[in-house]
Order: sequence, then C-alpha cells, then structure tokens
Amino acid sequence: MHALDVTIPRGRITAVTGVSGSGKSTLVLDSLIPALRATEQARLPSHVTSIEGAGIEKASVVDATPIGVNVRSTVATYSGILDELRRAYAKLDSAKAAGLSARDFSYNTGSLRCPRCEGTGEITLDVQFLPDVDIACPDCEGRRYGPDAEAHRRPGADGEIALPDLMAMTVAEAAGHVADLRKVTTRLQALQEVGLGYLTLGEATPALSGGEAQRLRLVSELDRTQTGTLFVFDEPTIGLHPLDVRVLIGVLQRLVDQGGTVVVIEHDLDAIANSDHVIDMGPGGGVDGGRIVVAGTPNQVADEKDSVTGRYLAKEASP
Ligand SMILES: [Zn+2]
Repeated sequence: MHALDVTIPRGRITAVTGVSGSGKSTLVLDSLIPALRATEQARLPSHVTSIEGAGIEKASVVDATPIGVNVRSTVATYSGILDELRRAYAKLDSAKAAGLSARDFSYNTGSLRCPRCEGTGEITLDVQFLPDVDIACPDCEGRRYGPDAEAHRRPGADGEIALPDLMAMTVAEAAGHVADLRKVTTRLQALQEVGLGYLTLGEATPALSGGEAQRLRLVSELDRTQTGTLFVFDEPTIGLHPLDVRVLIGVLQRLVDQGGTVVVIEHDLDAIANSDHVIDMGPGGGVDGGRIVVAGTPNQVADEKDSVTGRYLAKEASP
C-alpha cells in the first residue's frame, strides 16, 4: 500500500474508478468512511494519518441489500405513505360511524386486515411429502384486507376508492387519486423520480431487486436538505439496464442539488462521464494498484494515457 493524499470535493459527485483490486474499496469503504465516523483522532483507522472532513456530519453507505425480511414490509409502509393514508381513511364519516381509528386501517395489526392470511396477502400450503408453497391468499386475493375495508371509500380521480384498491395500484396510478393529500403526493412523486413508478404500493419490499431497493432507500432523502451528508455507493450500476443507469445518475444529481456530497465506486463509463470529479486508482490490481493514476474532471482523466479508465473514456467520447 502506498501513501495517498486524496481530495474529494464537497457538494459534487466523485467517481472512484480503476481495475479490480486497484484499491477503490480500501480507499472509500475501509478508509474514508471509518475515518469520517471516528469521533476523535485516536479512533482513526491505524492506516489513516489524518482526515479533514470539512462540514461532513454524516456518512451514509447506500447499499443494495433487500429491504425487510418478510412480506409485511411494502413500498407503502417503507416510504411512510401508508401511515398518511391510514389517517386519511380514519377521517371518513363511515370510519367514524364504525368507531374505526387509523390503527384499524393497518393491514399488519388493524381490525380490517384479512383474517385468513392476517394481512400478509399469502398463505402457506402444507402439502404432505412436498416442500411448503406460498400462494396468494384465496380470501383477499393478495389484497391483505378483509371485506369490511371495502366499505370505506375516499373520493378519487374517477369515483370513490377503498384503501385495498389504492394498495393494488402502481405508484403512477395512485398519484391521481390522492391529490388532496400533500405528503402522500410528495412521496409518490419522489418514487416516480427514482424510476419506481411501476411498483404497486402493496409490493413486498424483500422481493425488490438490488437496484430497486437502493433507490427506494433514497426516496425519503430527496425532499430534505442534505448539506453535511456524504452518500457512498459501491458499484450501484451493477446489473442495471442502461436506461436505469440514466435514472440513477439523475437521483445522484438530485442528492447533490439538495446540498449532499456523493462518492461512487464505479466502472460504468456513462456514470463516470457524468460525475464531476474522478479519482482513478491503479495502474493495475494487487501489487500494481494502490496509487492514484490521475484525479480530475472526466475530460482530464480521458486525456491521461496511463489510465485504463481514461483510455475507455476517450474511446467513448470519440467513437
Ligand atoms: Zn388474505
């Protein structure tokens, strides 16, 4: 390992690039993050001499692991949308007449949940001599609510709409039916901005792909100021369709617009070309790595003949 002196601009997107084994993870995940989280000099990782984290108060690693462990976690609960919807439905005259509160509109614990599947939307079939199989609950057809929930309806874009109907809609569809609920509308907009408008509100979050989970984690961050926050992403474009890479780049830019600082360990040329600053590690992997080959704007890196990333960037720019 070589001695490194690294500068990362605040309020910008920085891509840390280089071949496998060139030291990207060591720099970002094993040095930068623990050093920023160390509250005093004595607790710095032993290989980090000093850190000057001007104005960075929080370092957040946004990973792509699944959200939640069971089907009770949905897009609506994770994004906070269901809490708002439950309150809105409890205010209906029909709900008041029936003596219902916001709690009753929870599919997890409320009195309106489907009694057969207890709000999970699925049941386990115990077939003798065969492994158990989960199927959609035959009573609620996966809607998670019992028949009594249908009686409580809010005015929507075209006619009145019950909570289970809303939960079965995609984010994009639901947006038109809750225009009077400001907080819900804001969150639905954010979900669409991160490219998740096609998910239903009742979609179980553990079933989401890594890229979807990563973007869902960012939804609650988009409508608040992020000055003082560093967001770190480890190869966020892995497995993403090129169109989704575009969406992700937009989300990173949005975090920066909100005052945040973004560092991505990245190999995707489109994502690298769209960052503000590039730190290219290498020149090779293992014993040939651990140095900074070049640091600067994507154009400056493309001009560096000794940089593998630079050569690819140059090729991309002039096909
Ligand atoms: Zn059911």
